[in-house]
Order: sequence, then structure tokens, then C-alpha cells
Amino acid sequence: MSLPAAIYLRVSGKHQAGEGRFGLAAQEHECRAYAARAGLRVARVYVDVISGARDERAQFAQLLADAAGYSVVILGVQDRLARDVPLSYAMLGALQGAGLRVHSALEGPLDLEDDGHALNFGIRAVIADQERRRILKRMYSGKLAKVRDRGQPVAPIRAYGWKDGAPDPETGVRVAWIFEQVERHGLHQVLYELERLGVLSPTGRPRWSKTALLNLIRNPLYRGEYGYGRKGERLTLAVPALVTPEQWERTNAAVARRFKGSGRAGTLAHIYHLQGVARCAECGGVITSTGVQHLKSGGKLRYYFCRSTLKIEGYRCTHRTHYRIEEVHQVVEAALKQLVREEEAVRLALAASVAAPVAASTSRPKTNPLARLNAEWERWKGALRAGAITPEELAAERRRINAARAALAQEIQAAPQLDVTAWQAAMRDRLASLPLGEALRASGVTVLLGAGGAVTFRIRAGA
Ligand SMILES: [Zn+2]
Repeated sequence: MSLPAAIYLRVSGKHQAGEGRFGLAAQEHECRAYAARAGLRVARVYVDVISGARDERAQFAQLLADAAGYSVVILGVQDRLARDVPLSYAMLGALQGAGLRVHSALEGPLDLEDDGHALNFGIRAVIADQERRRILKRMYSGKLAKVRDRGQPVAPIRAYGWKDGAPDPETGVRVAWIFEQVERHGLHQVLYELERLGVLSPTGRPRWSKTALLNLIRNPLYRGEYGYGRKGERLTLAVPALVTPEQWERTNAAVARRFKGSGRAGTLAHIYHLQGVARCAECGGVITSTGVQHLKSGGKLRYYFCRSTLKIEGYRCTHRTHYRIEEVHQVVEAALKQLVREEEAVRLALAASVAAPVAASTSRPKTNPLARLNAEWERWKGALRAGAITPEELAAERRRINAARAALAQEIQAAPQLDVTAWQAAMRDRLASLPLGEALRASGVTVLLGAGGAVTFRIRAGA
């Protein structure tokens, strides 16, 4: 007695599983009728439900694994074997390769070695493929129309931080946190932190992948932009944003910069001359730069800004202005001309160095003490205007602040000695022979970028 037969069916979508010519019941009935006519005993029926566009064939794989137990496989309606040509051949080839004879319930034995069979099979596969592409196109146009006409996403938005088509309060907060973290820290550090905090990945795993993190960061959905459609006909809808567009840009700029390696000193030093030698005059924080914004005109925009505006460790600088790097460079160059000409300018810069040493300290903010006293004085005056303190209390604060200023002035008097003329000569040489940033570094000059783009210097004696 020969081995039994298996039946393999593919049904298209759940809605078709029960009805019509290609429905599950109809296909199985035809296959069993065929088996009866051919004198084959059916041992098992394998069914894959396919979506029409995607290829899912778990049961097909199972059938191949079980192939040794069967002599014949009977396929349901053959043009449903798969809806694209290469795949049809591949599947038919796989069945034959597994030692099975393949029969179609409609057409009888199929054999790729037989030219007539192969041609017939090929034509059917080509027709099926055309159909598949028409279906895909129709589905696509329908979705595009839905987005365009109704202003609605194709389907309820399913993304990390979203739930049931709306932002999810719980995971939504985490999205904002992730954007902030990635802006400040390397990807690996953030991945580690997510795992440590037990934050599950978008697919519900305990460990996030770098790709998952990058995909999240790069998804415009989080800045409130839902996009649908292929290039050239892309439609976007405004949806609730989980992070501000500014945060989105900053985080992506930070990631892009890190990938270029330019976050480290030196790499793009020929463009961002002041990277590593500039500080915020308000808070002493590091001056950093944005990524490049490309203009339609072909131009490029790059900016310097105070990194402490990014709310690092709870402190947030109020100096939020972004300055075009070219403009800052011009101002710095002009101010340097004065520095190498005027002795007094050098003395001031040395004094600034004492008032706010470029400490290697990691504590934040590295506030310029004089600026801090001035700011404090302004706050007390504001408190008086607001009626929070009496004029007597203000007078007391003034005495205290003036005493502190006097103490600072004494320190400044004790500024380290420097041969100013020699320093200026060396600085002139360096400016003539080195790129701006290197000349500044070699001369121990820190550029202080103040409100409105004002530039002052700090000189480390001994440089
Ligand atoms: Zn600052």
C-alpha cells in the first residue's frame, strides 16, 4: 500500500476562509473529490491563511518537514499557491524536492520537468502575479485617499507611546524621556539605562536594540507628523506630538553628530572652530553646535548654543539664543585683533580667568561668580518690585552683595602675572599660522559667548 496523500490549501484572508470558490471549505471539498477519483487516501490537511500581500506559510514549512510520510500532495486551486511568480516556482520546486508528487485538484499532476505542465503553471503564476499587483495598487490608492480626504491615518496609529490610536500617558512620557536621554548620552548608555529601569522595548522585550531606539528617534510621528505614501506623493497629517519639534530636532542632530564623530573635539574643527574653546558667559556651560541645516538655496546653517539649555542634571541655562557660527567667528576674529593690540584687553581676560576659572570640576553650573552676583542682585530688585521684600531688606542684600563683589575684585587684583607683550606676539603668530580654534587653544584662550552674541575672552596664565 502506498503512502497517503496530504492536502495543502492556501486561503486568502480570514474573510475568505469560509466562502466562495477559493474558500477553505470549497478548496478542501475539491481536493478530497480529486483524491477519491485518483484513489488516494488523505491523511492530513495543511492550511495557510495569507493576507494577499504578505507571504505566510508556516503550514507549508510543516508539510515539507512531514514530507517523508506522504507520497502525494494535492493542492487546492493552483493559482493560490502563491501570488507571485518566483515564489510559485520556489514552492512547487520545494515540494518536488522533498520527494512529493504534486497534484492540483483542478489540473491533475503538476510537473516542472514536463514542458507542458511547466508552461501552464508559469502562465497561471504570471496571471496571479498581475492580480496581486492590481490588488496592492488598489489597496494603496484607497489608503492614500483615506489619508487625503478624511484627514485620518490609514489605521489607528500603532507605535511605541501610542495606544488605541491615541497617545498613551504611560509610555508617552517615556518617549519624551528617551528623546532627552539620547540627546545627552550615547545610545549604548541609554540602552543600558532602559534595561536597568525595566522599560520594555516596543515589541515588549526586556532588552532594546540599537535599531529600535534609532527608529524611534527618527520617527517624525513623535513630533506630531504622521506620514503616509511613497516618495513624491507623501502625505502628512498633524497628530498629537509626544515631543516638541525642537526636542526632536536636537536629539536627531545629536545622533547625527555622534555618527559623524564630530561630537568629539577635532573632527569638524575646521568648521566649528570654537568647539571646545567656547563657554556660555551666562552659566559657564559648554558651547556646542547644532547639526547642519540644509537650505533649499543650497546654503547651510550651523549654530552655536549653550549646551546647558538642554536641561542637563536639572539645571537649565536661560541663554537660549542660537548663533550662526560664521557670525560668531567674525565677532571673535574682530575681538582677537583688539586683544593682540591692547594690553588692557589682555588684563581683563586674565582677570576673567580668576573670576571664573575654567575648572575641570564636573559640578554644574560653572557659574561666573560676578555674573551670578549680578543676577542675584536683579532678583532681589524684582522681589522688591513684587512686594515680596521691604526696601530695608533690599538694602541689607545690597550690602552683602557689594561685599562679595569687593572680595572678588581683590582676587582679580591678585591675577597671575603674564608677560602681556610676549603673549600678544605669540598669539599674533598663532593666528597667522593656525586655524582659529587651534590658535585659541594654544594660547589658553577661552571664548565667552554672552547674551546677544557678545564675545569676551578668558586667558589662562601660563599658556
Ligand atoms: Zn548657558
